[in-house]
Amino acid sequence: MFNKILIANRGEIALRIQRACRELGIRTVAVHSTADAEAMHVKNADESVCIGPPPSKNSYLNITSIMAAAEITDTEAIHPGYGFLSENAEFAEIVRASGLTFIGPTPEVIRMMGDKVQARNTMIQAGIPVVPGSEGVIEGEEHALRVARSIGFPVIIKAAGGGGGRGMKVVHTDAALINAYSVARNEARQFFSNENVYIEKFLEAPRHIEIQLIADQHGHAVHLGERDCSMQRRHQKILEESPSPALNPRARDMLGTLAARAAAAVGYTGVGTMEFLMERGQFYFIEMNTRIQVEHPVTEMVTGLDLVKQQIRVAAGEKLPFTQEQVEFRGHAIECRINAEHPETFVPSAGTIQDYHAPGGNGVRVDSAVYAGYAIPPHYDSMIAKLIVHGADRHEAIVRMRRALDEYVINGISTSIPLHQRIMTDSDFCKGHYNLHFLERYLKKGKGGSK
Ligand code: ADP
Repeated sequence: MFNKILIANRGEIALRIQRACRELGIRTVAVHSTADAEAMHVKNADESVCIGPPPSKNSYLNITSIMAAAEITDTEAIHPGYGFLSENAEFAEIVRASGLTFIGPTPEVIRMMGDKVQARNTMIQAGIPVVPGSEGVIEGEEHALRVARSIGFPVIIKAAGGGGGRGMKVVHTDAALINAYSVARNEARQFFSNENVYIEKFLEAPRHIEIQLIADQHGHAVHLGERDCSMQRRHQKILEESPSPALNPRARDMLGTLAARAAAAVGYTGVGTMEFLMERGQFYFIEMNTRIQVEHPVTEMVTGLDLVKQQIRVAAGEKLPFTQEQVEFRGHAIECRINAEHPETFVPSAGTIQDYHAPGGNGVRVDSAVYAGYAIPPHYDSMIAKLIVHGADRHEAIVRMRRALDEYVINGISTSIPLHQRIMTDSDFCKGHYNLHFLERYLKKGKGGSK
């Protein structure tokens, strides 16, 4: 096992990883920008190194500074968390070439899954169903038209190097396709430094269901069930739950087994997530995330496993201590992402938190790195906390979430708490009837007015 790990991240996930390290007896090194000098992840670490000015590209994305921090602190492994450099194959390669362990899959696997066209083809070969679409990269307008006509409109143009819900274009006609094709390529070049795009059938009312995987370096891969992430706004997840109200145990078993088998086939190691869209009982692979995800706690709540500790253990070469048959699913968990933003306009709300009181009690977990008096820097993601609850069943989880949201005090800034409070009392949500478009329709209907 490692003696010391550098955590190349900030916020709640940096704290989350520190907690796992502490329980494993591993020392932690925090890195931070000048804007984060007072951050919890710095205060809570065994050592800390300032790696640059506030903009991420000069600090949390600055590979040279991070590697220098690892060198001077005598670090053995680097945990990238999520976002930032977590899916950067070049970074994983540099970490490996420096003789350190990158806590994640190999750079080769990260690269393969990072190219969504290649990931699609790999999954097809592994027998996983994908959304009907182009066989590879779109080679020109004629090709785009041919593909769209053969699968039928509407279609979605996606960037091969895309991520974070950006760079996708839905089109309904030939003319719109030609126009969107060149715009999509330009944006892809600008945002992802890779102008390749591909086309998928646009599914009109799907659910987003993803399978959590964990694999060791000895060829064992198991799945830890699914998460339903259909509550989205502009392709960004707002809340997640496990199990999915739309899946029965047989479908879970089938999809999970298929995903674990595919992960083993590509030599996957560490934690990872295969994302699927589900429509009319059919599943379609859309992408694989080769890192720990924001929503991992819901899986931890229903399986009783500590995913980050397991992730570190398999990175250190240990065998998975359980088999697929030993994984048990218990009760129901829901996570609400608490963002520092206006609950109706979604405009980010930077500022200083005046009063802070986190909810507690049975079955309630808060993963956050904020405190009273904390000034939220404007440079980073607006998510400031994750509120996760566990209940014996979905109904108890919903009632518990309502109670926990009511207890949560965050004064001085706007947060998305009121939005979650409304979702938790919506009759369709309570019945489990929602898909990817729930929120946009809900907000349009004007139900989103403040309390
Ligand atoms: P990213 O890597 O940017 O997160 P994904 O491929 O995971 O992109 O897609 C993100 C979201 O975009 C999905 O959760 C879904 O809301 C929407 N989406 C992606 N592909 C399709 C599709 N073929 N049909 C309908 N919605 C889609």
